[in-house]
Amino acid sequence: MITNFSGHFQLRRCSVAATAVLASLFASGCAGTVAPRILAHIALETKVDSTPKPLTRAELKRIHPNEIGDVLILEYHNILPHPHDPYTSTPTQFRDVMKLLYSLHYRPVSMSAYLNNKIDIPAGDSPVVYTFDDADESQYHILPGGGVDPNCAVGLMEAFHKLHPAWRLRGTFFVLPTNAFGQHSLRAAKIKNLIKMGYEIGNHTVTHPQLSKLGNTQVQWQIAECDHLIDQLVPGTKVNTIALPYGVAPTDRILALHGRWGSIRYDNRAVLLAGADPAPAVISRRFNALRVPRVQPVMGVCGLFFWLKFLKHHAYEQFISDGIASQTTIPRQFVHQVVKGRLNGSKLVIY
Ligand SMILES: [Zn+2]
Repeated sequence: MITNFSGHFQLRRCSVAATAVLASLFASGCAGTVAPRILAHIALETKVDSTPKPLTRAELKRIHPNEIGDVLILEYHNILPHPHDPYTSTPTQFRDVMKLLYSLHYRPVSMSAYLNNKIDIPAGDSPVVYTFDDADESQYHILPGGGVDPNCAVGLMEAFHKLHPAWRLRGTFFVLPTNAFGQHSLRAAKIKNLIKMGYEIGNHTVTHPQLSKLGNTQVQWQIAECDHLIDQLVPGTKVNTIALPYGVAPTDRILALHGRWGSIRYDNRAVLLAGADPAPAVISRRFNALRVPRVQPVMGVCGLFFWLKFLKHHAYEQFISDGIASQTTIPRQFVHQVVKGRLNGSKLVIY
């Protein structure tokens, strides 16, 4: 059993050195060439069992569930055939990452499932949370005939889901509401469609400022007004997470979570950073709603392929599902890390 925590020191280094990380991504000049298969993952292709029943000793030994392990939250921006920066993936790269993750037994879950400690994937699989910032048209493009562009993110995920139904349509789009996904007249229809398909909508402010440069009132206006504009487009849209523009927090950090502008109040459940580590499970003492890290699907230090390789050597730091949505199964050596108040009704099973 792996009991060392050297990986967590590594995780902290990546978060602290976010600027250096971003610089190295620029230097790498390759925004998503897929690495060879590097993680041997033990998984059972079973359906999620909602009936609580303990796993047998043999199953525990085979699956090694660890539902306090780290979760990959992927951060995408543009999907374009000719990338002009390290944050842009080509459609081929986007598809290849899905293929790679699928082969490694990662399965998409919603941000809500992650935050609710209700990750509902088969035993032995690991969750991945897809996120998209900036609401670029290349994320969701409607063709003149009304169909979804097969080369935009939504079209690529739809096609992959059709081939592999176990790869569900889950993810969060952090939108800039005034120009959400280009195609101005289709903004509301696109948000509605995304929700209908199974995706979630998040806050990315109104004008994408560096929040640290704004006063408290302006910070609250940026966040509250973003929620308000989304609600005007599609009334009742649930928005309770925010991705910080440029990963930069306001000076009074708590304002990213809670605040108000005029009569509009907001209460976010999580503040997403721009880099650069896997995220602690929500029941872990290391989870901090003000600083939820994400991983960029790029080569280079602290990019996706770096972390997949890292997790190969630190398998016990990775979230591995027990396949039972109402149960949280963890190895005994991690019991001191559990925040029981965040189990959210899930039965804690220790082995
Ligand atoms: Zn952004």
